[in-house]
Amino acid sequence: MSGDYSGLDLALVIEARKAMANAYAPYSRFAVGAAVELDNGTIVRGCNLENASYGLALCAEAGALSTVNAHGGFARIRAIAIAGGPMDADPNMPSAIVTPCGRCRQLIREARDVGRDRGQADIRIICAGAHGQDHRVYSIDTLLPDAFGPANLT
Ligand SMILES: [Zn+2]
Repeated sequence: MSGDYSGLDLALVIEARKAMANAYAPYSRFAVGAAVELDNGTIVRGCNLENASYGLALCAEAGALSTVNAHGGFARIRAIAIAGGPMDADPNMPSAIVTPCGRCRQLIREARDVGRDRGQADIRIICAGAHGQDHRVYSIDTLLPDAFGPANLT
């Protein structure tokens, strides 16, 4: 979906872009921010955190979801916005939409399942670039169909 944001989606994307500004990404030079909204309106941000060992890099979504969990909100997620882009990009050029990596899709899927078991609606996933109006809204079942999940362990 392109064009105008709904007000709530735009507000959450702005929060993700604020987090993006704090990304520690000296190796990839690709900054990502995430903002999770809980059912009580609380917003928790995360940004990517790289490391000289490369393989230890942490995603923005994983950081935000871990913080949400530390505050007892893992089953209360209403939406997550993700925004990102190359740190050296020309701000006058269009910014491509960033979607979660496979690992983060799995993390979001688990949060959705835990929340659904407690009566929450599906998590709204709003993906945007570093700037501009283009965005897409997904469900986790669209981003990660036929996923492995808790039910597979029983
Ligand atoms: Zn990720």
